Amino acid sequence: MKLSEHLDLAEVTRSDSAKRKGINNMPTPEHIENFKKLAENIFEPIRKHFGVPIYISSGYRSKELNALIGGVKTSDHCFGMAIDLDQQGHSSGITNKQVFDFIKSNLKFKQLIWEGGSKQEPDWVHVSYDEKNLKNEVLLATKVAGKMQYSKY
Ligand SMILES: [Zn+2]
Repeated sequence: MKLSEHLDLAEVTRSDSAKRKGINNMPTPEHIENFKKLAENIFEPIRKHFGVPIYISSGYRSKELNALIGGVKTSDHCFGMAIDLDQQGHSSGITNKQVFDFIKSNLKFKQLIWEGGSKQEPDWVHVSYDEKNLKNEVLLATKVAGKMQYSKY
């Protein structure tokens, strides 16, 4: 099932943890609609700008999966409103920083997070889209004693 021209539902529901534990990670129809909006307004503009495959390391988290990985219950991932992007380990020729900078300068979003890594390159990029809350908040997440801490970017 396609969410948009270049994004398939399978790319946002794929989860190694869910697979390992035999957990259902299928979004509700409402959450699929949310993903479609995210695909049109976030994923496609990035995909079209760079013209290379854009890789999603984490998309949907069903209630069951979220409980398993100890995720925050209010996470946008649980509502089909967030994706984590990671170009590392792929030969797309673009960096996570380039993706981050493009989103920050060109798109409307709820939250954009530079996740871990260094000053040169984040480990991954979290971006969420909620048409009712496009506050363009940009955060920096750094790991302190094993826990992610968030500050203004
Ligand atoms: Zn995320």
